[in-house]
Amino acid sequence: MDDQQVPDIEGQLRLLSDQLTLPKPGECLLCYTYRMLEFGCNGLIWARHYRDLMAPRATGLEARLAAKGGYCDCEIFANGYEPNADLWDPGGYCAEHQPDPLPPCQQVRRGSTQPCRLWRPRWRPPGGRVYRWW
Ligand SMILES: [Zn+2]
Ligand SMILES: [Zn+2]
Repeated sequence: MDDQQVPDIEGQLRLLSDQLTLPKPGECLLCYTYRMLEFGCNGLIWARHYRDLMAPRATGLEARLAAKGGYCDCEIFANGYEPNADLWDPGGYCAEHQPDPLPPCQQVRRGSTQPCRLWRPRWRPPGGRVYRWW
């Protein structure tokens, strides 16, 4: 039997899943992770995947996310960040008015693990001054 005849299903699936799980050009860490949570949460696999592909030098990423309560991908959003509704709702954040899907990523430069303007921290300093996260 010729090995060439055997369809490489595993390889094709891997290719397909690679395409599905690749960050879009300019997409930020949080938009990517949020998008990938559709496939489920399993630790920080999506945040790590983004880091490995886009910002391999960001070795402190896990610690920085943990400091925001993000010990797994879904906790980044449960504890750390919420969609910045100011972008589409001047009245402020309101879960019921959250567009689904969210607006497209506002883009970050390559190699950055900063969230784009679509996200804001759940914790705000007194006076609401804009805070730079990392
Ligand atoms: Zn989780
Ligand atoms: Zn984004």
